Amino acid sequence: GFKCGIVGLPNVGKSTTFNALSRGNAESSNFPFCTIEPNVGIAEVKDERLYKLAELVNPKKITPAVVEFVDIAGLVKGASEGAGLGNRFLSHIRDVQVIVHVVRCFEDEDIVHSVGEVDPKRDIEIIDTELMLADLQTIENRENKTLKIAKSGDKKAKAELEILERFKNLLESGKPIRSESLKAEEVDLVNELRLLSAKPVIYVANVSEDSLDGNEYSETVKQIANKENAPVIVLSSKVEEELSRLSEQERKEFMEMLGLKESGLDRLAKVGYQMLGLITFFTAGPKEVRGWTIKKGTTAKEAAGVIHSDIERGFIRAEIIKYEDYIAAGGEKQAKEKGLMHLEGKDYIMEDGDVVYFRFNV
Ligand code: GDP
Repeated sequence: GFKCGIVGLPNVGKSTTFNALSRGNAESSNFPFCTIEPNVGIAEVKDERLYKLAELVNPKKITPAVVEFVDIAGLVKGASEGAGLGNRFLSHIRDVQVIVHVVRCFEDEDIVHSVGEVDPKRDIEIIDTELMLADLQTIENRENKTLKIAKSGDKKAKAELEILERFKNLLESGKPIRSESLKAEEVDLVNELRLLSAKPVIYVANVSEDSLDGNEYSETVKQIANKENAPVIVLSSKVEEELSRLSEQERKEFMEMLGLKESGLDRLAKVGYQMLGLITFFTAGPKEVRGWTIKKGTTAKEAAGVIHSDIERGFIRAEIIKYEDYIAAGGEKQAKEKGLMHLEGKDYIMEDGDVVYFRFNV
């Protein structure tokens, strides 16, 4: 699957954020396709299109698309040299496609900071350094192997050595690989080696309850993030945790009181979804209106398999109405009458917002 990994120094609010993300959301048993482990959480992606569809269809049930988050605790200063549970945790980061970096932006004397005063710039540097040191090790190991192959005159190996050298120089000058735009062959190598500092980052500035609009610390995080074109979510994990315990109605009232239009976690889920390159298709019937998560480039037949393997196996055609057409026409029947439904075959590449009915043989 495609996942966002939550990292950060100890006591910055990772678990609080993660727990709120997973608790505030649907039963994981509704999502059999997700591998449920204790440190994997599922967050709903609140998509207003889903509710607009539901207004027309009046389903018994509304089920949003979801995105998976993994809580990767244990990243500490010196992790790449084996401090803490060091390397094991770094290897968990290899398995995610996007990094959510939680940065402490709240003061609290009762909660010790693992390295001293609250200082987002230093914290971000510590984590980045660990990621870069781990990458340097990976690259040096690879270099040793590639050197041997290159000696026999292998052209591909020689080309690879040049890329490895470039990466090494970058890292040694203190720059994560994500700070550079990469050529296709470099991207391939990054993916093969699963380099940590190449993964896109979303910063979460975890502020205190009384500075939900941000504070001097979250400003620092924003400045750093802006330089690398990374998104920043300012939230209070404590507030998010409280919100996650409330009923829908209570949550609305509490958010109004706090002046929050959208919860921090809803914002995080949306950005995570986008950064993972995920898109949504919808199914809309009287039983359920539902958003389904797929990767960009997924075919109609593969998309059918996300719903059920039987539908993929027996796939005949997909009836597709674009979301905008569906809404403008006022429903499925009306859209069909206007000729706005398209029959697509198994190789059709799904688009974000497709409202689909799969025809299949049982
Ligand atoms: P982790 O080690 O990064 O997973 O951090 P935790 O989520 O376990 O949080 C560490 C401590 O900080 C816990 O006691 C939390 O209740 C507390 N904490 C988390 N977020 C906030 C916050 O926004 N304000 C305050 N005052 N405490 C927080």
